[in-house]
Amino acid sequence: MANEGETNDTKSTTSKLHIFFFPFPSKGHTIPMIDMAKLFSSRGVKSTLISTPHNEPSFLRSIERTQKLGFDIGVVTVKLPLEKVGLPEHCQILDSTNSPDMINKYWMAIRMLDKQLEKLIKEHCPACVITDTFLPWTVDVAAKFGIPRLAFHGTSHFAMCALECTRLYKPHLNISSDSEPFVIPNFPGEITMTRAQLPDFIKEDTEFSKLYIEMMESELRSYGVIMNSFKELEPVYTDHYRDVLGRRSWRVGPVLLCNQDTEDKLQRGTRATIGEDSCLKWLDSREAGSVVYICFGSRTDFSASQLHEIAEGLEASRQPFVWVVKKDESVEEGKEEWLPQGYEERMQGKGLIIRGWAPQVLILHHKAVSGFVTHCGWNSTLEGITAGVRMVTWPVAAEQFCNEKLITEVLRIGVPVGAKQWMVKVGDSVESEKVEKAVKRIMIGDEAEEMRVRAIELSKIAKKAVEEGGSSHSDLTALLEELKSPKKVGCS
Ligand code: UDP
Repeated sequence: MANEGETNDTKSTTSKLHIFFFPFPSKGHTIPMIDMAKLFSSRGVKSTLISTPHNEPSFLRSIERTQKLGFDIGVVTVKLPLEKVGLPEHCQILDSTNSPDMINKYWMAIRMLDKQLEKLIKEHCPACVITDTFLPWTVDVAAKFGIPRLAFHGTSHFAMCALECTRLYKPHLNISSDSEPFVIPNFPGEITMTRAQLPDFIKEDTEFSKLYIEMMESELRSYGVIMNSFKELEPVYTDHYRDVLGRRSWRVGPVLLCNQDTEDKLQRGTRATIGEDSCLKWLDSREAGSVVYICFGSRTDFSASQLHEIAEGLEASRQPFVWVVKKDESVEEGKEEWLPQGYEERMQGKGLIIRGWAPQVLILHHKAVSGFVTHCGWNSTLEGITAGVRMVTWPVAAEQFCNEKLITEVLRIGVPVGAKQWMVKVGDSVESEKVEKAVKRIMIGDEAEEMRVRAIELSKIAKKAVEEGGSSHSDLTALLEELKSPKKVGCS
């Protein structure tokens, strides 16, 4: 933990504060929430994470070292009522559902957790609940007990503001085609987007849009919002979020920096499918700053033909690479449909393919790595920023096209691969030539060097933000001070 040596001062002033941390049960949400619970516990808070029994073992593994260091952190569980909503037992995470009907049922099961949360609050009497933005109903549960609910947003202020300004002012209704750019109204920086890049829940009335509106409304009724970001990263949009959209917010990130130890980094999310040793040994054998890391988060599911294009593009770029591909258990390794003939033999020593789950933070922070092809999920984006790498942006779904704009146009530490169409999980198709060109652009030449300098500078600022006296450290101190005052009502 970053703050093992936290001053006794901070510890004693906050020692009585007990906070519940309730993430939405999918990797992109649980990973930063667990980091945040660890971070808070390192500042003297008693942190209790709420998990489903399915996720509990990985939660416990992630916090084991923090507990051993003597910090007060634990896990309690709530059980998804899958049977009640008509879902089979294996649908413990949203990704295991495979039809719109199943997805709706999953959301129903999530919503039905309110009584279990009430019971836990009665039993444990936390002073506050920090809950995922996907759990808007928790604001009413917290209100019943007179305790504050803080919403946790796993994205950037930039993306939040861009999506909210688009949802409220609907610029996409005044253009003639999906590919015609529009300027996001009432949003700093003259940022343009196209209708094709917008999430369907912003441009259409979907089931998720109802939830999205509820999320936005519940945020305004919440005590405030916690963001995994830092002030210096996006100051204009941080102010916009507060002054124009009216949210009280605190920035406490990058929360991943609470994982200083290799074991902590290895335990984030899921145990890696490649041994730490073989992965790091491979990277150790490469020249500093020469390797590109390619990974599209926990959910993206590219087609075999798209993976084939990526393979060819990487080979043609002639840059050493580590590439994470989802494992297909039904096919023998090396015999996958997408793998070009003789590819792994040709790439021996030049490229490493990891099938399954990679220790992403360890890899990104290795000195050999200086480029990252990313789907622009916010966790990956922040991990890339913190590691000081240049990025090829390849957004797929969610708010990722907004994060692409932040990376390429505001921070100017990356270039777009050229994905144009928002698509759930499968992604827009991109040819190998575009992959090759974008990878070369971030790794070779003057433009790449300028990006490298900016990326390294930003990573230094990110690290400073969480140090004592840094902006995120101070924001957290201010929040903890404030949370000492609210009175609990109705909690026996
Ligand atoms: N991740 C990882 N290894 C993998 C794939 C993903 O450690 O092989 C982690 C990654 O470091 C990040 C998270 O999973 O913390 C993915 O979150 P993100 O917001 O980037 O994308 P999502 O999966 O939510 O689309």
